[in-house]
This record gives sequence, C-alpha cells and structure tokens, in this order.
Amino acid sequence: MEEQGRKGRRLLLFPLPLQGHINPMLQLANILHSKGFSITIILADNFNTSSNNIRANYPHFTFHTISDGISEDEKAKIDIDVLSLLSLFNEKCVPHFRKVLRELVLEDSNIVCLISDSILHFTKAVADRFKLPRLVLRTGGVCSLLIFAAIPLLRNKAYLPLQESRLEEAVEELPPLRIKDLPLFKTCNVDALYQVIEGMIRETKASSGLILNSFEQLEQFSMSKLRHDFPIPIFPIGPFHSHFPASSSSLMSQDQTSISWLDTRPPKSVIYISFGSVAAIEVNDFLEIAWGLANSNYPFLWVVRPGLICGSEWIELLPSEFLERVDGRGHIVKWAPQQQVLAHPAVGAFCTHNGWNSTLESICEGVPMICMPCFGDQMVNARYVSHVWKVGVQLENGLKRTNIENAIRMLMEEEEGKQIKERMLELKEKANLCLKPGGSSYESLRSLTSYISSF
Ligand code: UDP
Repeated sequence: MEEQGRKGRRLLLFPLPLQGHINPMLQLANILHSKGFSITIILADNFNTSSNNIRANYPHFTFHTISDGISEDEKAKIDIDVLSLLSLFNEKCVPHFRKVLRELVLEDSNIVCLISDSILHFTKAVADRFKLPRLVLRTGGVCSLLIFAAIPLLRNKAYLPLQESRLEEAVEELPPLRIKDLPLFKTCNVDALYQVIEGMIRETKASSGLILNSFEQLEQFSMSKLRHDFPIPIFPIGPFHSHFPASSSSLMSQDQTSISWLDTRPPKSVIYISFGSVAAIEVNDFLEIAWGLANSNYPFLWVVRPGLICGSEWIELLPSEFLERVDGRGHIVKWAPQQQVLAHPAVGAFCTHNGWNSTLESICEGVPMICMPCFGDQMVNARYVSHVWKVGVQLENGLKRTNIENAIRMLMEEEEGKQIKERMLELKEKANLCLKPGGSSYESLRSLTSYISSF
C-alpha cells in the first residue's frame, strides 16, 4: 500500500561518471525503484565512457545524457590527474546540468528530489534555484569522509602536506591512522583538490540528507561522530549491492571466462587480484606482483585493466619465464564480473587496492583481503581493514615480491590467517543481518523512503 502511494513520484539521480561511483548510484536507484519510486538518471557523457551498457541493463529507468562541458584537451589529462578533472567538472558542467534540470522540472511535476554524488557539490546551488530538495550519496566509507572533513585540522597541525620523514608517525587525533594512511592524491593542482573536498563537505552539510553505502555495525564509531559533525538526516542503508542479485552497471565488458576458469579450481584456493577502475601502478610494481603470485604457487585470477600499468598497453611486459611458470595456474583478464568472482567458492583471498566498493564486496562475501592501496580514501580503507576490523593484512613497505608471497602464505596457511578469516566471517554475518527486517540498514531504508515521500 505504502509503495502504491509512491507510484509516479520521480527521483532524479546524478552519479559521478566513474565506475566506482556509477555502481553504487545505480544500485541505490534499484533499491528506491523497488520501493515504488520512478527513476531518472542524469549521466554526464564524459571520460570517453559509453553509457550503452548501462542503459541496456536498466530498461526500467529513464536516462538523460548531458555534456560535462569539459574540452577534449582538458579531457586528455584524465590519465594523469583525475582530481583536476573533478574540479573542472564542478565548474564546467554547471550550465548543462542547470539546463536539463530546468527542462525536467518543467515537464514533470512529480519530481520529488535530486540525489547527487557528494563530489558533485555544484548541484546544491542548481537544485536550490529550482527549489528541489537535494540528498547526497556518499559512495565511499564514513571513516574516510571524516578524514576529508578533518583536512583543515590536518593542515593546521602540519600533518599535511605529507612529509616523507614523518610517514610512520601516528595521527593522534585520528587513531589508528598514521600520516602515511592519510588520503594521498597525485595531483599537480593541490588547491583544486582542497577546493573539491571543501565543496563536498560544505554542500553535504547543507544538503537535505546523506545516504551512505555502509552499515552501522561496520562503522559504528565513525557514524556517531558523523551524526555529531553533520547535523542532517543520515541514512546508512548499505551494503547496496546485497539488496539485489548482481546487476551490471559496468562500463567495460566483463570477461565471463573468469567464472568458467574459477569453476575448475578447488574451494578457497584462488587469489583474486584487482586494482579497480582508476588506479595506475608502475611497471616495477606490476612485475613484483607477478613474481609474488608466481612464487606463492597458488592459482590466481588477475584483472589487468588496460591502462593499469603506466606506460604499457596491457600485459606485454610480462616475461616469458613468468608465463611459463604460471601456465595453467594463472588467468589474466581485462575486466571481471567482480561481484560474481568474490562470491565464487573457489576464491580464497582478494589482493585489492581497497576502493570502497571492492572493500564492501569482499566483506559481504567473507573474502579476506591483502591490501595494496594506491591513493585517496583507499589508504584509509586499508588501515581500517587491517587494524580496525582486522579482516585483512596490509602490505607495508611497497609492493615487493617476497612481501606479496609472504602475505598470501600467511593468509592461506598460518594461524594468523585463520583468525583473520574467522573475523571476516563474523563481519559477513553482520553485513547479512543488517539488511534483514529489524536490521539497521533495513530500518534506515524505511526511514529514507518515508522521508523522501514527505517532500
Ligand atoms: N569491478 C568490476 N570488475 C573488475 C574490477 C572492478 O566489476 O574487474 C567493479 C567492482 O566490483 C567495484 C568497482 O568496479 O564495484 C570498483 O569500485 P571501487 O570503489 O572498488 O574502486 P575504484 O574503481 O573506484 O577505484
């Protein structure tokens, strides 16, 4: 009955067009659609990505594509500096977003609110202009959101900018972080970085509400601090992807041989390795990972995304000795159906860059992690995985083959690894329970739907 009452009420959702942000926004769209809302997705057509895959997989949504307003010259910089691009996006997309919002609001009086990615802070002023309530989706963890909010303090206390000589020091105000766990971004434009973060925090605090892809039992302490520091309605309704069976919002085509190959492997024997959709690594690190995997003697499924290795097309730099050594034991793909991979019984451990989605997906499937963070919130997530939830181990001191081999052996064979796996199974159980009737995310979703219905 309640859901019937929402029929025709339409929500506008505006994701940041990067894979790790599109996935949770579309999962959220599915969740809210299942509660009776109609959904319109506004996609900024940028970064040379195609939205065709997404449109085909979500026939129940209406899509509008707008220009991001960024020139080809500026776009060419994405490979070297995603952060500068995000800053440009917040500046150049404004007229295009304003135009589509005006058209949509004029033609449909059933539009209830806008839900935009927290990084797209410019959407606040545009939504205000049309008197449209704006909720924010934070696609990352609460733990890292609080670190972003603390950047002025971290700068004041001289923790930032990072100093090579102090990396191991503890950040006393933010345990258990060390200086080297603070979000690190490789950008040639530090001012732009701070502006994007400052805008994100300011306009999130000024929003009508904050939706989180997280759950109370995972980030209890961070959540109470968040509620204190961000006095707006807060809805932790994650893990989003567990509300439904996997539905793909992948911008790249997923190599299904990943699954048929896993089918041939014994339970819990395979190491899965992926660095997500944005991170890039140096050739030397790539080769160290390769030899670490080879020397571990475990079977592995490795996602080597074209563009992952700086200065190389794909896997052409792998030496023939390596390929001979791992023949039949290793499977390398350009992009995998990751949720299905992590859910596969053959997977025993996940070497991950600790993007928030990958971290949550691993927790939901109970797969222990070997953390190899590269930049941004990944450093914070990795520290939480290894030192707060203790469901993984972080590779310290760089990507060296012996470290990688030892970490794999520890996780797969030793007592410490056994304890990590036990804690991971307990956390997986909590992730399951929070979505059941009476669970924290289940109840939070009820609050969210009635809150949105009240607009
Ligand atoms: N992903 C995937 N196939 C791959 C690698 C990653 O489908 O081969 C998905 C993964 O399941 C996750 C997203 O891409 O949902 C990556 O998001 P995450 O936050 O982990 O990292 P990011 O790409 O933003 O760095």
